[in-house]
Amino acid sequence: MILEKFYEFGIKAGDKFILHSSLRSLGNVEGGADTVIDAMLKSVHPGGTVFVPVSTFGKPFNPAESTSEVGWITEVFRKRPGAIRSLHPSHSIAGIGPDAARILAGHEMTTPMGPGSPLIKLAAEGGYIMLIGATHEGNSTIHCAHELAQVPFLNTFRDMEVFDYDGNVRIARALIPGCSSGFDNVEPLLLEKNALRISKIGNAVTRWMKGQDVIDIALAAVKKNTVFLLCQKPDCEWCAHAREIMGILNTADKT
Ligand SMILES: [Zn+2]
Repeated sequence: MILEKFYEFGIKAGDKFILHSSLRSLGNVEGGADTVIDAMLKSVHPGGTVFVPVSTFGKPFNPAESTSEVGWITEVFRKRPGAIRSLHPSHSIAGIGPDAARILAGHEMTTPMGPGSPLIKLAAEGGYIMLIGATHEGNSTIHCAHELAQVPFLNTFRDMEVFDYDGNVRIARALIPGCSSGFDNVEPLLLEKNALRISKIGNAVTRWMKGQDVIDIALAAVKKNTVFLLCQKPDCEWCAHAREIMGILNTADKT
């Protein structure tokens, strides 16, 4: 059933995509996370590569062992035979397929979603994004727009422990990508450009789009209005801080 739904989106052999998901949103799935992962792998077979985020958000990072903090499907996925995990200390990504190693390589040398990062490479190679039971709040590729636009409020970092395969520990510092609660602002723009398909798999609203469309459309919106992707939640300190920085810069411009 899930596989047929994937085919309805037009997924075919050789495709690449990243899935952001909530297993619970699907309702009762026989076989659970493994059924979803099997459908992912089958839908792009042969020659395709599939990815999921396996972020750890600043918890101590051991690539072989650290539990993914972004849902059960991603945790089961990273333990699948053949799965490769990127080495970014806070926002690692896992992939299975012939292009996984190449796309995930060097993530520890880049910012989480910046130039050279897996999500930017995936988008540039025609990769797709699927959101199952997730809104654009979970659509990490939208962070790429902030990074590519070099918005001035992307200026906070965190330190975390990183373990290597010999068990040695060091401290790594990584950029905090920031709040994604306003990312649904992109949805009407995607729909307007006919760049988003929305359907249902089981009980879950499912979205399907091209990574590069998301980056292009979100980046254009941010270039036009720097605070476009910020949220309106009254208690969001990150977005309040971002607006404050923009306010200071705008005032400085006028003097
Ligand atoms: Zn916010």
